[in-house]
Amino acid sequence: MAILDAARRAPHDRPILIKTNATRTVTRLTNAKEKLERQGWVMAGEDADVYRATVAALRRRSARTRIQFVCAEDNDPDYPHAMEAAVRALDEGAERAPLMTAPAAFDAPGIPLSSITQKLATRVIRQSKAIRTEPRTKTVENLERARNEMAPILKFRLPDVKIWRAQMHKDFSLEVRQFLWRVTHDGLRCGPFLANWGGDWVEKSKCKACPHRPVESIEHILFDCMDSARALIWSMAEGLWSATRLPWPALSLGTVIGCGAARFTYLDGRGEEQEAVGKSRLFRIILSEAAYLIWRLRCKRVIDHEDEPDWKHPTAFVESEWNRIINDRLTSDRLLTNQRIYKKKATKKSLVIDTWQCLIDPASLPDDWLNFPGVLVGKRPAQAGAPHSLRQRRA
Ligand SMILES: [Zn+2]
Repeated sequence: MAILDAARRAPHDRPILIKTNATRTVTRLTNAKEKLERQGWVMAGEDADVYRATVAALRRRSARTRIQFVCAEDNDPDYPHAMEAAVRALDEGAERAPLMTAPAAFDAPGIPLSSITQKLATRVIRQSKAIRTEPRTKTVENLERARNEMAPILKFRLPDVKIWRAQMHKDFSLEVRQFLWRVTHDGLRCGPFLANWGGDWVEKSKCKACPHRPVESIEHILFDCMDSARALIWSMAEGLWSATRLPWPALSLGTVIGCGAARFTYLDGRGEEQEAVGKSRLFRIILSEAAYLIWRLRCKRVIDHEDEPDWKHPTAFVESEWNRIINDRLTSDRLLTNQRIYKKKATKKSLVIDTWQCLIDPASLPDDWLNFPGVLVGKRPAQAGAPHSLRQRRA
């Protein structure tokens, strides 16, 4: 938005130098411009209209325009001004619609027939259908909850698009992504979903683990149910998180829905705020896997033991399932750092170390524990508080 504003305000016959700290913006307005324009800016996501208008505004200029990437480390005197302009443009973003009209003579709307591919056409059809579809009331409510309940962790309110994008975070397994998507749409087959079918389903929509038989919504299953497995899993999740020495946030349905956007920070040597990437990632993994495990165990209890209302998962089984899930994540993370096998797709070793180091007992293992088979993390219940140690699978 700031670049679009500059392109419009600056005299067209005077050379200008635009400085920005957004690498993606520089790429899209320079090297990737032709390809994105051939694709009708469809691949530019929700900012497509801004880029299209910016390119048209820049093309209208007769003098030379240069775009330069700047970052904090460059000590560029214009960096604070670039940041200010970006923040101002973001604040004004909501009122940008009237500004999006590109100068017609320099605009290139649509997609040339020669550039159409099946993938591109599918994307266009999906986008046009999404525009015509009214969002579900429950979905809108859940997004609002995620926005409000993630605000204490993030210190800002998430827009819808970031919540949806966060749910597709690569730190989540495919099953967890699908689970979060269905939670957000209130599409899990429990509680109110079953009650809507009427008849016998109304009775089946009530929780059998709680004596007062409330409607078994996903919120009840995750946060209110008296099922012992639920409390134990959250306790073990909190126990693992305590190794980071960060406070365990107040949990709610909104934090589960928006946990992909979690961001924890620390102050570096210069007093500047930096993201603790590993801790954000560990929080995402712990919270999403704990919620998904509670749901899976609830389904197993309700479906496989329908005729045994007092049946519960044994404590040892719940603990072993939790340990298995967390250790599977740790092991797959370790294996995915292998550059010889995964080449450029390999996970960065520093990211894996940042994520898991706080759970590893340094006295038990060599420094290069990434290459050490059988690395495991203990269960560490929250209330015990006793230090756990990493143990080997085999002697
Ligand atoms: Zn219950």
